[in-house]
Amino acid sequence: MKIAVLSGKGGTGKTTVSASLAYSLGACQYIDCDVEEPNGAIFLKPDLQESYQVKVPVPEVDQAKCNGCGACVKVCQFNALAVIKGKVLLFSEICHHCGACSLACQTGAVHEVDRIIGVVETDQVQSFLHGRLNIGEPISIPIIRELKKRINKDLPVILDCPPGASCSVVQSLEDCDYCILVTEPTPFGLHDLKIAVALVKKMGIPFGVIVNKATENQRMIQDFCKENEIGILMEIPFSRKIAEKYSKGILPVQDNPEWIKRFQEVYAKVERGVNQ
Ligand code: SF4
Ligand code: SF4
Repeated sequence: MKIAVLSGKGGTGKTTVSASLAYSLGACQYIDCDVEEPNGAIFLKPDLQESYQVKVPVPEVDQAKCNGCGACVKVCQFNALAVIKGKVLLFSEICHHCGACSLACQTGAVHEVDRIIGVVETDQVQSFLHGRLNIGEPISIPIIRELKKRINKDLPVILDCPPGASCSVVQSLEDCDYCILVTEPTPFGLHDLKIAVALVKKMGIPFGVIVNKATENQRMIQDFCKENEIGILMEIPFSRKIAEKYSKGILPVQDNPEWIKRFQEVYAKVERGVNQ
């Protein structure tokens, strides 16, 4: 079973939830798809032993064969190419690696070369995986794809998704059996939760909500969930003690076994949600 953990924005407790769930299950695979800011390792402290470079093909133009016709520029849907004074310029950061320009070039001037955009790192048995996108690289999808190629179908898999509702989130969510939406009881939290709910509904993925930093007098998330018949899997109270431990890289489950039981109950609810 593949369980995605998603939040509409960063800083809502997505990694706390996904890492706590992985820690509480024990035998599972944790995949940190938040490749711009992978934090799961801070808490789960894996012994990372394997590292794989992630490369993408980008076009390279042989100016000697290029006649400046501009066919490659016309076919590029991402404006990654321009012809200036008869010479082709490539803006490699916005290239989406579709290969259309090499197909469009009739003189054979375009060929593809590999560019490294980041790495995938794992422990020896691939129970922990994360990706890291190189600084300045804008497209994280190839790294998420590489991570998901290594999914172990025999174990529960926890995917810590990037925040938001962008293409990289869609890539992380694809083929997941369930999505846990993590949010906090603020107007921003509610706004972003609504966007995340619309996304997972559109993708047809069953989901439930975890309210982080829950308080008795801020019930906007609970009210929204009730109105929209959305199940709440758990509430994590607003707690100075939890925040202090978190700042030292300690999850609630690593500090208090009662939380392990609570996260195991969340997993049982997720299983029921998938089976329904
Ligand atoms: S399509 Fe080929 S020949 Fe035409 S401008 Fe592009 S690289 Fe040059
Ligand atoms: S590979 Fe695709 S996105 Fe990249 S420059 Fe060529 S046409 Fe544009």
